[in-house]
Amino acid sequence: EHLANQIAAGEVVERPASVLKEMIENAVDAGATTVDVTAEDGGLALLRIADNGCGIEPDDLRTAFQRHATSKISTAKDLFQIATLGFRGEALPSIAAVAKVKCVSSADASGLGRLLEIEGGEIKREEDAASARGTDMTIRELFYNTPARLKYMKTVQTELGHLSDVMYRQALARPDIAFTFSHNGTTLLRTPGNGDLRRVVAAVYGTAAAKAMVELSADHPDYSIAGLTALPVETRSNRNAITLLVNGRYVRSQAVVQPLLQAYHTLLPLHRFPLSVISLRMHPSLVDVNVHPAKLEVRFSKENELRAFIEQSVREALGSQAYIPSG
Ligand code: ADP
Ligand code: MG
Repeated sequence: EHLANQIAAGEVVERPASVLKEMIENAVDAGATTVDVTAEDGGLALLRIADNGCGIEPDDLRTAFQRHATSKISTAKDLFQIATLGFRGEALPSIAAVAKVKCVSSADASGLGRLLEIEGGEIKREEDAASARGTDMTIRELFYNTPARLKYMKTVQTELGHLSDVMYRQALARPDIAFTFSHNGTTLLRTPGNGDLRRVVAAVYGTAAAKAMVELSADHPDYSIAGLTALPVETRSNRNAITLLVNGRYVRSQAVVQPLLQAYHTLLPLHRFPLSVISLRMHPSLVDVNVHPAKLEVRFSKENELRAFIEQSVREALGSQAYIPSG
């Protein structure tokens, strides 16, 4: 089982940012309304994720770190209808196999919880501990026992860039959750958690960018779209300017980006992308999120219908602003 965990770790834990993504998804699944993230040296020295979610029952803490013990999938059919973000039951054991992990968690407001320390997959300490309701996960020295993987890590700046991307996406996906992110003692992101997407956009991209965005909101029998998309003054040279969420999950899809750009085609300078946060909701049976193991690529059924809906919705959002392109 130890080896199995290390092998699984190779798939789940590519770099500090993949650990962060898994941990934030767990916090979100746990119903947290605050998620505080601290990192040191690009997350390689330390990653700490503290949430105020439902916590883990003391008797379940060990089990949570055992492979497949907790998979949220009960039947193969569920693979195509995933409601919660996590579904493999592999993240915690995989991470604990390749790092020094301390988890303190409490499932109630008693002020009492349980602490578990695991290093390289081996339990080092387990005891009762003072804890507010929620989970506080500290991951130190990622890949300390897998030098081959450690060798692939880039500079602190590069790893920090990946951590920031994960933080921004998660924050944009959940304006109702208050996120903080600090790196080597500097606060890099703080969102209010009051449900206002524009405030999150302001925290991520700046207030000027947030002001230059128009609201997107439309319904269709099969889909709904919501979010913010930029007037053609707020563009970026990078496709990352477009954040796409499908049923709350960050994904990439040309089937969405292309009709979005099409709606802008007379307004947008060549090779520029509008800053956009687009949240699509649809019945889970209409989207296959398992095309790519990292769950980033998706495939839609009724794709043409979806494309038409997106182009139309974006056109309407832009049109309602009576924007007159200059020059
Ligand atoms: P999965 O999320 O696929 O179930 P994980 O290995 O990520 O697998 O987590 C294992 C289990 O540990 C989860 O199913 C959940 O019960 C529990 N857990 C992990 N993180 C948290 C958290 N932050 N808050 C509450 N429970 C958690
Ligand atoms: Mg998980």
